[in-house]
Amino acid sequence: MEHQPFENWILSGDPLTPSQLTELDNHLSICPHCKSIQEGLSGVEDLIRSSTFESPSPGFSRRFAVLAAQREEEARRLQSYFFLGWTLVITVIVSIGYLGTLFLTQSPNEVISGLMSSTIQAAFQLDNMLQMVKTWMHYIPLPITLAIVAGSASLVVLLTSGWIISVWKVSTQGVKTNE
Ligand SMILES: [Zn+2]
Repeated sequence: MEHQPFENWILSGDPLTPSQLTELDNHLSICPHCKSIQEGLSGVEDLIRSSTFESPSPGFSRRFAVLAAQREEEARRLQSYFFLGWTLVITVIVSIGYLGTLFLTQSPNEVISGLMSSTIQAAFQLDNMLQMVKTWMHYIPLPITLAIVAGSASLVVLLTSGWIISVWKVSTQGVKTNE
């Protein structure tokens, strides 16, 4: 089907003579192609007419800047999470690799019995430790025990947080050098 000149008439938006209008109406009633063009165009025109172009409210640019900063912060946080995630993944892979090498160099039975014996040993050691603590408690007054426990606990916390902070620093530095 020949769509010219009807396509041009629709798209140009120029005023048409009454005979051209009749011709166009006749063509539109039989041509889905030109009909869809006309409907799409009038839809866009309706949209433009109905939308109100308001001037930006005061503080718009400032809010926009804040939004951009937030987005940047989010991206940075996301990258840090990615870094921590990768650290975790690598730790898991190394552990799996370690266990895999154990299984390859030793027979599975040896590995399992080794793991079991070390677990049992750990249980024995825990029991020994509890016994030791009981004996300790018997001879050493409670405040000193509490002070030692608190001291070692805070040392563990300090070491752990130091490790976390160093990982965090490295991750944020990695982001900064990327910018
Ligand atoms: Zn047509």
